[in-house]
Formats: sequence, C-alpha cells, structure tokens
Amino acid sequence: MIKINENYLKLTSSYLFAEIAKRVAAFQRQNPDKEIIRLGIGDVTRPLPIACVAAFRRGVEEMGEAGNFRGYGPEQGYGFLREQIAKNDFQSRGADVASDEIFVSDGAKCDTGNIQELFADDIVVAVPDPVYPVYVDTNVMAGRTGAAAGGRYGGLVYLEGNTANGFVPGPPDKRVDLVYLCYPNNPTGATATKEQLKAWVDYARAEKALILFDAAYEAFISDPSIPHSIYEIEGARDVAIEFRSFSKTAGFTGTRCAFTVVPKSCMAYSADGAAHAIHGLWNRRHTTKFNGVSYPVQRAAEAIYHGEGPTQVREIIRYYMANARKIKEKMTSLGYSCTGGVNAPYIWIECKSDSWKFFDMLLNEAGVVCTPGAGFGKCGEGFIRISAFNSPENVDKALLRIEQAVK
Ligand code: PLP
Repeated sequence: MIKINENYLKLTSSYLFAEIAKRVAAFQRQNPDKEIIRLGIGDVTRPLPIACVAAFRRGVEEMGEAGNFRGYGPEQGYGFLREQIAKNDFQSRGADVASDEIFVSDGAKCDTGNIQELFADDIVVAVPDPVYPVYVDTNVMAGRTGAAAGGRYGGLVYLEGNTANGFVPGPPDKRVDLVYLCYPNNPTGATATKEQLKAWVDYARAEKALILFDAAYEAFISDPSIPHSIYEIEGARDVAIEFRSFSKTAGFTGTRCAFTVVPKSCMAYSADGAAHAIHGLWNRRHTTKFNGVSYPVQRAAEAIYHGEGPTQVREIIRYYMANARKIKEKMTSLGYSCTGGVNAPYIWIECKSDSWKFFDMLLNEAGVVCTPGAGFGKCGEGFIRISAFNSPENVDKALLRIEQAVK
C-alpha cells in the first residue's frame, strides 16, 4: 500500500490567495458591472525591460544557430551571469561574495522552500510572524512541526513582529538553529538596519545557528543606510545564506530567474560536532535535483547589469515606488498607521478592525482587493497589505474609492 507523507495533512487547507480569489469571484458574480482594482497579490505589472527582451531574443536566436547552440548548461548557472551578480550585487557594496558561491535558480520560492532539506529533522526553526508562508509550510511538509492550533504550528518558534518593534523582531532569548529573516519584508515592508542585522549575526555565531536571509525585495531599498545584503554585516559569511530574485527587481515573475548565495565558509554540523560546508551540500542537492535555468533566460537576467539595463530597472522600481508613496500618504492622511512603502513595494496598514472584515469592506464598498494580514500569521491580525504593483491610474482610482468607503 502506498502511504502518504502525513505531514502534508497538517497543512492548513485554506490557502490565503485561494480564499481571496473565492471572495473576489463571488463579488464579481454579484456585481458583474463593477470594475475591480487588484492591489492584493504581489505580482508585478510592468513588462520586462527592453534590454532584457533584446538579450532574451538574442539568446533564443543563438540556440537556433549551429555554432552557438547549447545543451545542458552548468546547474549552478553560467559564469557570465554569476560573475555579474558577484561584482554588481555584492563586491560593489563591500560584501565579500565570489561568483562560485552563487547558485542561479528558477526562483527564490523554490530555493527558500528547498534549502531546509539540508538540515536535520530535529532542529529548532524560527520564523517571522507575519511570514511569507513558504518558510512555514516547507518545514511542516518536512515534519519539523506539530499540528496546527490557533493559527500556529507546534514546535516552531515565532518571531513576533508588531508596532512596538516596528515589525523587526530581534533574536529570541532561547536557542534556535535555523532562522528565516526577510528584509525588505513581505508582507510588512519593514527593513532592518545594520545594527539590527548585526544582532542576528552575533546571535547565530554564538549559537552556531544559520540565518536564511530572503532579500527578494532588495532592489526597492532607497535609503543609503539600509543594508542590501546580510553580507554587508561583518561575520555573516559564516552563518548566513542569502536569497535573491529577478522577479520583482526586473519583472521576471513569469520568466523565472533567481539566485542563492552560499558562502564557502558557511557551516552546519553533524551529530558528532564536525563542521560541514553547506556550499558542498547545496551544490550536491542542486546538481542532483535541478538542471539549470535556460540559457536565454540567464542572458536576459544578465542584461540588467550593463548597458541600458540598470537605468531601465531603476525606472521600473521608481514607477512602483511612486505608487507606494501615494498609498502610504493617503492611508496615513485617512488616520491609518502604516509600515513599509518607503524601501519596499508593500504598505502594511493597521486597519483597526478584523483584517478579513476590512478586506470584505474594501472589496464590497470600493471594489479594491487588498491582502488581509491574518493570512500571514497571528501577528497579521488587525492589518492589511496593499501592494504598489499596479498602474498609477489604478492606484489613484483605488485610493479615491478607499477614501469614500472609509469616510
Ligand atoms: N521571497 C519572498 C519574500 C517573496 O515575497 C517572493 C514572492 O512573492 C519570493 C521569495 C518568490 O520569488 P520568486 O519569484 O523568485 O520565486
């Protein structure tokens, strides 16, 4: 008899975006003529930068030329892309990362989800609350948690974000082995200062713990004092893995390209206390289970680093961040306290009511879709997330409608 992995039965069934889609569909059935503005799901709306399209097209053409055709590529990614990443994303900021410490992949979702495979079943895992759900669900699937009760899984340590700590929780006063951090944060839009990250690096070094640093929204940082990478913090190379993505930076959500940095000095330990380089383990995993990102996609990703690419990417970021600024200003002027929206494309709004109730009110009264904070964890109750990924026209229209609805 084929038996299932019963850990899958622990997963709470109503996935946030499925529930949102259900409610939006019901509203649309009842109000077929009402235009809905979606500021909920965090998908980009701008097309790929022209520089990426040109490089993508050229990559496809090369694949059709006898002299330039390429078959299986290196699983870790082509040198031309890894070198640009190391130089532009890290070395230029004083972060000591070499190109062979970069693993190109088809998504930060897959990498943040898969990385936990390298670690023992009985480690103590800390996740932020509110949280990007992938961190939690993949540990549930792996059997590192108990059952769900009251919106939380037994066995996980929840790092609570709230208005008192600005949604940047510090290290716990107990031992944890694996810590997920995400800055700029989804869903709160909060960013961590150098001092705040330093506290985590010091903690990880003292506890021989590992930080999984998700910097998928790094490109949205404009404040020069905010670190873009955990490797800007001294000592982080030994205790942190970093995840990045081209998805939000350059509109690659449908094209798929991301990367993970595993420094060679980053260690994990076997039961006998011996240190093992995680780099070798991830390389083994990556080469066994993954066959690389397609050549044209890697060429398209490389294009963000030279020629017109950097300017075009900055223009896209400016476009979204102008929306973010407007959303934040309007919601603040309406009396709502907001986090994010300055160095991140998300605005996290204290809605002064049950977050699903507020979601329903915005949908029914304004025809605007947001994301209820409760879907990101217990600490998200009482908040909603509004995303800046839409056109300025739609954002203006949505804000006008929200103003009328809440007054
Ligand atoms: N990490 C965070 C925090 C995200 O919000 C997202 C996507 O929304 C991802 C990772 C996924 O990125 P990718 O498109 O590279 O899989």
